[in-house]
Amino acid sequence: MFDLQSTSVVVTGGSKGIGRGIASVFATAGANVAIAARSAAELDSAVADLDALGSGKVLGIRTDVADPVSCANLAAAAVDAFGGIDVVCANAGIFPDAPLATMTPAQLAEVVDVNVKGNIFTVQACLDALIASGRGRVILTSSITGPITGFPGWSHYGASKAAQLGFMRTAAIELAPHGITVNAVLPGNIFTEGLYDKGEDYIAGMTKAIPAGTLGKPEDIGHLAAFLATVEAGYITGQAIAVDGGQVLPESPDALNT
Ligand code: NAP
Repeated sequence: MFDLQSTSVVVTGGSKGIGRGIASVFATAGANVAIAARSAAELDSAVADLDALGSGKVLGIRTDVADPVSCANLAAAAVDAFGGIDVVCANAGIFPDAPLATMTPAQLAEVVDVNVKGNIFTVQACLDALIASGRGRVILTSSITGPITGFPGWSHYGASKAAQLGFMRTAAIELAPHGITVNAVLPGNIFTEGLYDKGEDYIAGMTKAIPAGTLGKPEDIGHLAAFLATVEAGYITGQAIAVDGGQVLPESPDALNT
């Protein structure tokens, strides 16, 4: 059960944070893993670490997911190196602050380009390989922010994360005849470099709001992604699953103080 050896996986945003956690779980399970991001230095460092974890091949491919040509190059490089692609984790995303009152069209466009179009371009680029796999898996990294909750400064981000779920549901129907499943992981607050940049006050406030009493780890998202990637998860498609230590559950802050 749950054998991921000889599975070939693409993880966008795999050089850091949640994507790196996802890549490490797959690499440890013996999968071939191609990680994609823009910074070559961060890719190189992540590849060196991931390579030591398992028996599969690990590859770093410079990619801008907002560019369909770059996504096509990513898919071609992974197919060339591994002979195919079975699993795509479309995880790359950005979460800059922009209050609604002052948000510029350029700020909105950047978030939509990376978080929404980037997901779609990534899946489109890998589609032929996923179909050829016969058991393709697409796992999107959405968020609780947008689909379930909101946070000031993130109206564009929340819209982008909810949009991913709209994409997921139709893609799941279109791709089901090919044996491909399409699901989304909704992380709560996961301790990553990106989140760390938001400051200690933000992190302390968020930790207080989580029934589990701690932020999540990138590998917590990786473990769900790995399960969704298995043959055994083949009857699960079009689903959005929160991994958040219960963060979305309290009806009010009082629910955590009883
Ligand atoms: P992170 O630590 O900032 O890492 C982001 C990753 O995405 C990096 O590898 C980055 O590399 C890559 N990336 C960014 N823009 C890209 C682009 N245009 N093309 C290719 N790669 C790109 O962020 P994270 O916290 O791990 O977030 C990862 C995903 O989880 C995002 O979709 C985010 O919305 C979601 N999420 C995070 C949290 C959380 O608590 N951290 C919660 C909910 C959802 P380069 O900059 O080198 O390209």
